Amino acid sequence: MSTPGVMATQVPPEFTVEINERKCVRCKRCTTECGFEALTYSREYDAIVADDAKCVACHRCVTMCPKHAIRVTDNSLAYKANANFSDIHRKNILKQAETGGILLTAMGCDRDYPVLWDHILIDACQVTNPSIDPLREPMELRTYIGRKPDCLEFDPDSDPLKLKTELAPNLKLDVPVVFGGMSYGSVSYPVHKSLMLAAERCGTFMNTGEGGLHRDFYRHKDHVIVQCASGRFGVHEEYLNAGAAIEIKIGQGAKPGIGGHLPGEKVSEDVSKTRMIPAGTDALSPAPHHDIYSIEDLSQLIYALKEATRYRKPVGVKVAAVHNIAAICSGIVRAGADYISIDGFRGGTGAAPRVIRDNVGIPIELALAAVDDRLRQEGIRNQTSLICGGGIRQSSDVIKAIALGADAVMIGTSALVALGCRVCQKCNTGKCSWGIATQNPRLTARLDPEEGAQRLTNLLNAWSHETQEVLGALGVNAIESLRGSRERLRGVGLDEKTLEILGIKPAGR
Ligand code: SF4
Ligand code: SF4
Repeated sequence: MSTPGVMATQVPPEFTVEINERKCVRCKRCTTECGFEALTYSREYDAIVADDAKCVACHRCVTMCPKHAIRVTDNSLAYKANANFSDIHRKNILKQAETGGILLTAMGCDRDYPVLWDHILIDACQVTNPSIDPLREPMELRTYIGRKPDCLEFDPDSDPLKLKTELAPNLKLDVPVVFGGMSYGSVSYPVHKSLMLAAERCGTFMNTGEGGLHRDFYRHKDHVIVQCASGRFGVHEEYLNAGAAIEIKIGQGAKPGIGGHLPGEKVSEDVSKTRMIPAGTDALSPAPHHDIYSIEDLSQLIYALKEATRYRKPVGVKVAAVHNIAAICSGIVRAGADYISIDGFRGGTGAAPRVIRDNVGIPIELALAAVDDRLRQEGIRNQTSLICGGGIRQSSDVIKAIALGADAVMIGTSALVALGCRVCQKCNTGKCSWGIATQNPRLTARLDPEEGAQRLTNLLNAWSHETQEVLGALGVNAIESLRGSRERLRGVGLDEKTLEILGIKPAGR
């Protein structure tokens, strides 16, 4: 019988946890490893007991069990098969019938929309156009983010020649990959530290996200992009000057058109100080910037930030990929942005309404191609750099993005996976067993920033080597020479209109 006023749940567990009794030595490690308290030790039965309903398949227990005694499987018998009302639909209806609320989730969209990167193939040299051996010849991965001049003027009377053209401030990237915005609060202190150290070691940048920059990290400022979002959390003059670049965040791929949401459980004392908000309260950033309702307003903020940092740093704008993205980016360039970060609909988040995450926005592949085309047609492509993200999973995605027109890519989910994340999509609960999306000190202590930095550095090094291999196969010796070379891409299994927007030919042509 249910307690009066409390509705008993009808939602079956998503996963089944099985403990192999013969392998288990009752060390009880799994009971402390699970951030969601799904496992307990029963004295009565001298056994580990699993509460399947609490399991989120984060695999912490599976990984840490010294005897490999744990298996987590899909609870596939929960719902009768139905091609229309899938188990996800029914589970969501049941949850909403119980709560009457918006369904919250985390990380990127996991619905089965086509991934266009997987329908694009890269060219290679054969016979008359020789390839390059990256082991024996130099292969340049360096690139620059920021406004470029259309031409360079030199003083003809100088010896050696002196540059007369004044160059705008640019960020120098030794690899064409930056870490995307992930706020302190949504992720833990050790995550920020790992990203910061890895960015420094790899010659790239991490991005604060919308939560400000912890004082401890001001010394790493040469490798930090500081974000200024609608909530202005943690934004002050010193913070703006602490970054190598400033990014105005207008939108995010996982939740275009809405603000940020950091649940109160994740607003610890330290997070509250950094964000300049009360501890324990929900941090809700507004959907729009309340001072931006036009391109002119955006321009004012861009120039206010340039003024505040004495025109020494690039100021970029981050937007979500939406239907009219090409025209939006054209306006952003004209407003004075030195770079634009475009975040596709598969981009990750610490918390978002499921209905927005899974149904709003467009794929980054199409958005990037459309924006690059439009800026070229309007003759303003050199005035800005394009960083794209939202589902970059491997080095080949990076290479394809650059050939489609990006200057660099940003990664969030891939970086977190390198740190241990299993994409269980429960970041919004603040209970992350891997110490990543949590502020619980017992859990955050699990992530060693030194080891985290090493894992991230290894990932970027591995992607760099792979990128050099592919550049060699393409007969190209610099990543900047590949930018916008769509002739080196071909589509498979794509319709004509999609190929037209991507600006690539079908394979075989
Ligand atoms: S960690 Fe593994 S061996 Fe230890 S109690 Fe849990 S299931 Fe048993
Ligand atoms: S960060 Fe943690 S909670 Fe979020 S998806 Fe990854 S493992 Fe799950």
